[in-house]
Amino acid sequence: MPNVIIILTDDMGYHDVGFNGCTDIPTPNIDRIPGNGVKFTNGYVSYAVCGPSRAGLMTGRYQDRFGFGRNPLFAPNDPEQGLPLSEETMADALGRVGYRSMAIGKWHLGAHKDQRPLRRGFQEFFGFLSGGHQYFPEEWTLSDMSQVKAQYDPYRTKLLRNDQRVEESEYLTDALSREAVRFVERNAGQPFFLYLAYNAPHTPLQATEKYLSRFAHIKDKKRRTYAAMVSAVDDGVGKLLDKLAELKLDDNTIVFFLSDNGGPYAANGSSNAPLREGKGSMYEGGIRVPFAMRWPAMLPAGLVYEQPVISLDIFATVAAAAGAGSKNPLDGTDLMPFLKKERQEAPHAFLFWRKFDAGGLAVRSDRFKLVNEKGDGEEFYDVTIDIGEQNALPADDQLRTLKTQWAQWAAQMKDPVFLGLMQDEEYTRLHPDRFVVEKY
Ligand code: CA
Repeated sequence: MPNVIIILTDDMGYHDVGFNGCTDIPTPNIDRIPGNGVKFTNGYVSYAVCGPSRAGLMTGRYQDRFGFGRNPLFAPNDPEQGLPLSEETMADALGRVGYRSMAIGKWHLGAHKDQRPLRRGFQEFFGFLSGGHQYFPEEWTLSDMSQVKAQYDPYRTKLLRNDQRVEESEYLTDALSREAVRFVERNAGQPFFLYLAYNAPHTPLQATEKYLSRFAHIKDKKRRTYAAMVSAVDDGVGKLLDKLAELKLDDNTIVFFLSDNGGPYAANGSSNAPLREGKGSMYEGGIRVPFAMRWPAMLPAGLVYEQPVISLDIFATVAAAAGAGSKNPLDGTDLMPFLKKERQEAPHAFLFWRKFDAGGLAVRSDRFKLVNEKGDGEEFYDVTIDIGEQNALPADDQLRTLKTQWAQWAAQMKDPVFLGLMQDEEYTRLHPDRFVVEKY
C-alpha cells in the first residue's frame, strides 16, 4: 500500500509556483512534485475559501451535501460548527486498512471536542484548530482556548501537540515542516498518511529574515513577504522529499500538492495570472489552483494533464490505491486510470460550485463554463481558449445544458447547517457564551 502525503497551502495564487510559470518566486522543491509526476493545468478545489474547500478535500464529497457551505466560525462549544459526524475523513478510511495518520498545521474543520483531528481519524496532530495563525512564537501569548475572547484570538494561542498545548520556538512554517519530516521518520516501516496543511501564505504576512533576504529584488513589500512565506514552504517541501528519498520511500509514496483556494491578491500579494479574480470568486481565480501529484512507482515523470480535475478526486484516488473504500458515496473519481491513459475521456462530465449566501454558482464541462458570481448575471465561456474569462459567449444549447446540470446537482445539496464567518456578529448575538470554554 502506498504512503500518502497531501501538502496543502493556504491562499496561494495559481501563478505562484514555478511549474505554472512563476519567475520572481523560485519554487524548485515544490516543482519536484510535478517534475517527477503530473502537473494538472485544470486543477480545481470545491470552494473558493478555506473551510468548505477543506471539508470537500477531506471527505471526497461536495461539502454542500452535508451543509458545509460556509466558512466555519471559531466556536468550540458548538458541535455544528465543523465537519458533521455523518462524514468520514480520508484518515478514517485509510485507518480501516492500517494506515497511521497525522494532521499538521491548520485544521479549520471544527474546534468542538468531537471534531478535532484526533476524533476524526488522525492518530497525531500538531498545529492549531482555527482558520489562521500568527507565525512568530513570541506572538503566541494565549495559553489555551479558554483565553479566547474574539473570533481572531485563536491566531495567538500556543500550538497543540495532540491534546496538549506546547512551547515552540521556531517560525511556524519551519516548525510544521520539521514535524512532517519527523512523522515520516517515525513511520517509515508502515503505511502512513500525512496531511500537511501549511497556513502559509495566508495573512498575516510574516516572514523571517532568512527567507526575506532571498527577495531583495521584489520592491513591493507585500509581494516580498508573500514570496518569503512561499519560499519557506518550498524549503519544507524539499526537506520532506529529501527524507522520502533517503528512506527509499519516494517510489511508493503518493504526494499531492495544491492550494485550498485562489490567491486573495489584494490581501497577500499573490498572483492568479492569467485567471480572473481570486479567493472567494466563482471565476477561475477563486477555484483553479496550483495542483500536482507524483507517484513514481506508478506514473511516469513530466506528465501534463489538461482535463478538469478537482480536490475531491484525491480521496477517491487514494482510497482506490490503498484498497480502503469509503463509507459514503464519493463525488471524486480515481484519477489513476486517466493518468495511465487507460481512459481517454474527461474524469468528470461536469464540475459544480455553489456560493450559497451570495447566490453565486459555477459549472464546468470539459470545455465550457457557466459562471454567475452573485446570482445576478450568467456568463458563459469556452475556458479551453479563454482561460481569463474575457470573451463571454452568447447563450446556446451548451449553456442550457450546463444550467440544467447545475440545477439537478444543486437539488441534491443541503442549505448550510451553521452560520459562518460572514455572520460573526449575528452568531455572537445568538450565542453569548460562545467563548466560555474549558481549558484546552
Ligand atoms: Ca484559504
